[in-house]
Amino acid sequence: MHHKASRKQIDTVIAAVRTMGLKAKPIPGSQRTAIGVLGNKGYIDDLSIRDLPGVKEVIHVTKPYKMVSRDFHPKGTVIKVANIEIGAGKRPIVIADLLRGGAFKPRTGPHTFQGLEREGLRLLSLAKKRSGLPIVTEVMTPENVALVEEHADVLQVGARNMQNFDLLKELGRIRKPVLLKRGMSATIEEFLAAAEYIYAEGNPHVILCERGIRTFETATRNSLDLSVIPLINELSHLPVIIDPSHATGKRSLVPPMSKAALVAGAHGIMVEVHPEPDKALSDGPQSLSIEGFGEMMKEIKSLISFLGFDR
Ligand code: PEP
Ligand code: MN
Repeated sequence: MHHKASRKQIDTVIAAVRTMGLKAKPIPGSQRTAIGVLGNKGYIDDLSIRDLPGVKEVIHVTKPYKMVSRDFHPKGTVIKVANIEIGAGKRPIVIADLLRGGAFKPRTGPHTFQGLEREGLRLLSLAKKRSGLPIVTEVMTPENVALVEEHADVLQVGARNMQNFDLLKELGRIRKPVLLKRGMSATIEEFLAAAEYIYAEGNPHVILCERGIRTFETATRNSLDLSVIPLINELSHLPVIIDPSHATGKRSLVPPMSKAALVAGAHGIMVEVHPEPDKALSDGPQSLSIEGFGEMMKEIKSLISFLGFDR
């Protein structure tokens, strides 16, 4: 809408969109209000809208994601978890400021440690009580969303489930934040379309997480695609964080890639830490020791203040 458009003109456009059998979502911005049109199966003939008073222009968004796109929501989204804020303009978070652990674990083969499931959730709740840290943990099936929601402050969708659409839709029906990891072979468009499933179902609290993609390279577990940070910041208003542990698979690479991620504009990082990495039941080689984590955090704290964020 034109920046001088009146409330009445905006309402008239919304009514016109609804008359076409489509959904209208007004998006107030600092300069002007945009009206998102949803529910069309194909190209819509916009003639009846274009000439209404107050309309500045009609922009066709042909991407498979709309609600998570910057076109729909120019201002960055900030997600609140307890008293922590994640997203645009906020101090980057470290998951460690939140406690992350897997109770339901998507292991590649069935003969390895499969996670403690319900008992794991109980232990996470206990850890939350003792430490005061909000909990991030994975949910793998739509059936378990309600159970995991009881214990988690943020529900994680693992890379292998990024396109488990029934799971995404179920997570769209809750109101707790969802940490959506990029599938190991997913394009950015597929990644954002997966986020759109959660958002479109009614849950706008989505945090994106890049965790490395499959390439020809075998020296690292995956290839960390840092270019997605500025790219997602252009394309979407959702916060994006980096998981350098699963991305590289190598402990020594975690601190430098964490720092690189923050410089590139990530809203946070998520790293694996273990008191005795050599004895970890899962992902020991990429886990930092407690001391290693402490050293990394010293560097990260000075980097964060260098980048202009203060507590
Ligand atoms: C995890 O974060 O615990 C995990 C299994 O990672 P990913 O889904 O990215 O492989
Ligand atoms: Mn892991």
